[in-house]
Amino acid sequence: MAVGAHPDDLEFGCPVTVRDLIKQGYEAYYVIATNGENGCKKKVKTRQERIDIRRGEQLDAAKKIGVKKVYFLGNRDGYLEYTETLRKKLTLLIKALKPEMVFSFDPANLDFSNINLFHRDHRITAVATFDSVFAAKNEFIYPHKNGLHKVEKMYFYGTNKPNYSLNITNDIDFKLNVLSSYASQFPNFENFSNFYKEFFRNQNPEYEFSEDFRVMDIIQFGY
Ligand SMILES: [Zn+2]
Repeated sequence: MAVGAHPDDLEFGCPVTVRDLIKQGYEAYYVIATNGENGCKKKVKTRQERIDIRRGEQLDAAKKIGVKKVYFLGNRDGYLEYTETLRKKLTLLIKALKPEMVFSFDPANLDFSNINLFHRDHRITAVATFDSVFAAKNEFIYPHKNGLHKVEKMYFYGTNKPNYSLNITNDIDFKLNVLSSYASQFPNFENFSNFYKEFFRNQNPEYEFSEDFRVMDIIQFGY
């Protein structure tokens, strides 16, 4: 289960890693906290049109990766609040889907070094997801007919403290192809593609391109 704040967060964060897990036999589910409508650069009239565009782009990208289902939580882009409703929805999805791994932004990223990475929707989604992994291992917090569920590992993408990197140098065209689903974000995809390769090259000095995570092994904390 991979949780993003906006359509495209997961395509920046972990598309090759998720695709590889699917190839190994896992099922993947996406959860998108907001509609992303205020990040839509296409000139369209109504808010609903912008929501439809961004949801359509997310579904297209998820299809390329092989994701089984995308859950849209439907919150307003840029206005996400940490509410009990948000935590409850995420907890019940974890109890229903029983994922071994949960992907999210890193709630430990709190140095506010990048205006986009530290977007409040990203921060709130990260903390709510973390708290929901905790709540899911308790049968009494938001009870579900499936009972409690213990997630084994959390993978934090967009992290400032990576401890695991997947070499995606041979998959960079796949990642860019997935990102190209977001026509409303990248009106000139060639420009974006060049920028991406410059900006993200050797993020991990060992690899030309990589997906980097802080992986938290939850089982080690003694469940
Ligand atoms: Zn985002």
